[in-house]
Amino acid sequence: MTDRAPQLVSRMREFGETIFAEMSALAVATASINLGQGFPDTDGPAEVADAAVAAIRAGHNQYPPGPGIPELRIAIADHQRHWYGIEIDPDTEVLVTAGATEAIAAALLALCEPGDDVVTFEPYYDSYAACIALAGARRRVVQLRTPDYAFDPDELERAITPRTRVLLLNSPHNPTGKVFSRGELEMIAQLCVDHDLVAVTDDVYEHLVFEGEHIPLSTLPGMRDRTLTISSGGKTFSFTGWKVGWVCGPAELVTAVRTVKQFLTYVNAAPFQHAIAVGLGLDDGYFHRLNADLREKRDRLRGGLAAAGFTVLPSAGTYFLTVDIRPLGERDGLAFCRSLPERCGVVAVPNVVFYDDREAGLPLVRFACCKRVEVIDEAVTRLKGLAR
Ligand code: PMP
Ligand code: GLN
Repeated sequence: MTDRAPQLVSRMREFGETIFAEMSALAVATASINLGQGFPDTDGPAEVADAAVAAIRAGHNQYPPGPGIPELRIAIADHQRHWYGIEIDPDTEVLVTAGATEAIAAALLALCEPGDDVVTFEPYYDSYAACIALAGARRRVVQLRTPDYAFDPDELERAITPRTRVLLLNSPHNPTGKVFSRGELEMIAQLCVDHDLVAVTDDVYEHLVFEGEHIPLSTLPGMRDRTLTISSGGKTFSFTGWKVGWVCGPAELVTAVRTVKQFLTYVNAAPFQHAIAVGLGLDDGYFHRLNADLREKRDRLRGGLAAAGFTVLPSAGTYFLTVDIRPLGERDGLAFCRSLPERCGVVAVPNVVFYDDREAGLPLVRFACCKRVEVIDEAVTRLKGLAR
C-alpha cells in the first residue's frame, strides 16, 4: 500500500485495503461462495424494508437532524430499557451515526489525544486499529488466547498505562464469537473504575448470542457514567448496507462524540433511520427468530467445517466461526485464504490480519455462517474436497 500511495500519512501506512474488500472482490472475480465478509445473503424483515420505501415516498429525503431523527432516538432508548433495563434520555444521551463504524471512529477521535493509549483485545476488528491510528493514539492489545479465548487479568492490568484513556471492548466478539462472561466484564469494569478509563463498547452483535447472555458493560457498578455503548441496525435487521448506527452514554461523552461526528458525515441515511426505528419496535419474537435462525446456521456450518477436517474453535455468538487449519496440513491462513477460491471456490477471512501477534493468528481462518443453508451446505461440500 505504501508503494501505491506514497503520499499517505505515516500513521496510516500499516493499513492497506481491508481484508473484507479484498476477499469479497476475490469472491466476485472467481465466482466463489463468499463466507468471508459478514453479510447475510437474504434481506431483513419486510415491514422494515417497507418502512424505508414508505419513508422515501413520504419525502424523508433531506438532511435529518444532526443527532438523528427523534423517532429513532426514542426507539433506541426504548430498546435499551426493554432489553437491558437501561434508562437513557433520547435527547441528550443518544446519537445516531453512519453505522457503528462511524460511532467507533468519532468516539476514538473525540476521546484520545495524540500519544494516548487505547487498550483493546486481540484479535480485534480491523477498524479499531485504523481509528486508533487516525487519532494519533497507540493500541495496547491483550490477547484472547485459544482454545477458549480467555485473557489473563494481569496482562490486562499491565496493558493499562498512565496514558490510557479508553478501553475498547467488543462483545459478542468479531472474529472469535466470544461472549464475555459476567465475571470477565466485572473484572474489566473494575479496572476502568480504578484507572479512570472511558469504556467504549461495540455491541453490534448484541442479539446474536447463542450461549451465555449479552451484558452491556454500562450496567455494571461504576460504569454508567464512563461507558459509550455502540450498536447498529446492520446485523440486528440484516440490512448491513443501510449503515444506521448509534452510540448511547452520558450526555458529556455523547456530546464529545457528536462534536467530531458532525464533521465526519454530519448526518446520513434519513429514510433508513425511519425504517430502523420501526425495526427496533418489532416484538420480541422477531429478535428470537433471528437468533434461532443464526444459531441453526452456525451449528450447520460448525458441523460441516469439522467434517471437512478443521479444528473448529468455540463461538458463542456473532456471524462467525474460526477454525484452525493445521489439521489439513496448512499453517499460513493468509496464503490459505488467497488460494482457497482457486482450490475449491470458497472465500474465507484470515484471522492473522486482526492480530499484532502474527504468530498466534497465522493458522486461524474465519468463516461467516450468515448465509442460506443451501449455500452453507454447498460450501461445506467444496471444503470437504480439500482433504482428499
Ligand atoms: N463492529 C464490529 C465488531 C463489526 O463486525 C462490524 C461489521 N459490521 C462493525 C462494527 C461495523 O458496523 P456497521 O456496519 O454498523 O458500521
Ligand atoms: N463486519 C464485517 C465483517 O467482519 C465487515 C464489514 C466491512 O467490510 N467493513 O466481516
